[in-house]
Amino acid sequence: MLVPDADALYDDAQTTYGRAGLATHEALIDALIDLENAATVKLFPSGLAAMTGTLLAVLKAGDEVLVTDAIYKPTRRFCDRVLSRFGVTVRYYPPNASPDELIALCASQTRLIVLESPGSLTFEVQDAPAIAALAGARGILTLMDNTWAAGLYFKPLDHGVDLSVQALTKYVGGHSDVFMGSVATHKPSLARALDRAILDFGWSVSAEDAYMMLRGLRTLPTRMARHQQSGLRVADWLSRHPRVDKIFHPALEGSPGHDLWRRDFTGGAGLFAFVLNAAGVGETRLFLDALKLFGLGFSWGGFESLALNCDPQFGVRQAPPEYGGALIRLSIGLENADDLIEDLNQALAAAS
Ligand SMILES: *Cc1c(COP(=O)(O)O)cnc(C)c1O
Repeated sequence: MLVPDADALYDDAQTTYGRAGLATHEALIDALIDLENAATVKLFPSGLAAMTGTLLAVLKAGDEVLVTDAIYKPTRRFCDRVLSRFGVTVRYYPPNASPDELIALCASQTRLIVLESPGSLTFEVQDAPAIAALAGARGILTLMDNTWAAGLYFKPLDHGVDLSVQALTKYVGGHSDVFMGSVATHKPSLARALDRAILDFGWSVSAEDAYMMLRGLRTLPTRMARHQQSGLRVADWLSRHPRVDKIFHPALEGSPGHDLWRRDFTGGAGLFAFVLNAAGVGETRLFLDALKLFGLGFSWGGFESLALNCDPQFGVRQAPPEYGGALIRLSIGLENADDLIEDLNQALAAAS
């Protein structure tokens, strides 16, 4: 960026370099502040960078962090490889731990509790308000990965959580073509810590990517309503199929976590999982390879429907789940739900 005159070059009160953010960044930040009911939002180059950057900003050597065992796997890799190298102790807790059980795990050096609700792949819903209240009373910070609800259907800060992280890459971007993450907070001290970390580490995003996210935000509620509607239709259809044992979709009646979801969330995303009963490696491969409309891929939240098998990711968990079949995750996109159901129907037949 350019400054008007020589004096402005070294004027600390002015923005003198694009990394500090330009008008497009500010417009995106303002919109995300509205979305998250936050005082401050910071942008990061990816959702993973938003998680890891916040952990680095908040933690120091000697601290301990408690992390849900259902955390997004790359976040876990950072905790295990990097945080431990910098003298931070990482302990994992069961995603279904009650708030009291979770607080009972805290030690004097526990600085932060990391939530992800619903949990990655297994979709456990956590009692975030109760956890945040108990943690806050003990001076422990809470951080939640809120990507599933897209900041739209759950507002962590309204429920007492200190830091709300989103991979904007997923639903806000909506087209699987741009990476970014955001961190929202109410607390000036946390906003300062994030600012300093961003400045010191050089985490910045370019204005064109910020523009893409701003554009995605304009259709977020409309797309989310469609993801929700189609997702529930597909999940409901699957729940009545003889090859399907269990559905993990918090917004589906009867699904684990549904009661907490109903209490705290105002809508459901299009991402959920189901158990293909008695399926081993061979049948799972037959099912996935038979899908025609669903792509196979790890991302989600975009216009196109995606599927993947989850079991190969469970090896790192402290308590790997066991369902008596293969856990399949679906991201329901914007296609016609009848077509998606027909595709699943023929793929389930092909696997049997
Ligand atoms: C994808 C994802 C991330 C990381 O986002 P990127 O922008 O791909 O780095 C973080 N948390 C969850 C729950 C995710 O699904």
